[in-house]
Amino acid sequence: MKFLIKTPIKSIREKCLDCTAGSRKEIRLCTVIQCALYPYRFGKRPTKAILDTIKDYYEKNSEPTRGLLDRKGIVVSDD
Ligand code: SF4
Repeated sequence: MKFLIKTPIKSIREKCLDCTAGSRKEIRLCTVIQCALYPYRFGKRPTKAILDTIKDYYEKNSEPTRGLLDRKGIVVSDD
């Protein structure tokens, strides 16, 4: 009998395949660094290069985006 439950990281890979309509190339080229699945999109442990990319991104973009704040229902004043 085939084992039907996948590991969490393989499930993340499947979600990324779903997100890109099955395109492995688009997963490789994914630019949505804010996505929680981004480090694991290749279905394995993130490499140092991926971690460095994320670190660089958040060093340059320390403020959360307005869209994210709006989505979470947090009221932001324009002071
Ligand atoms: S990491 Fe990229 S490909 Fe994977 S779910 Fe997020 S946005 Fe989609």
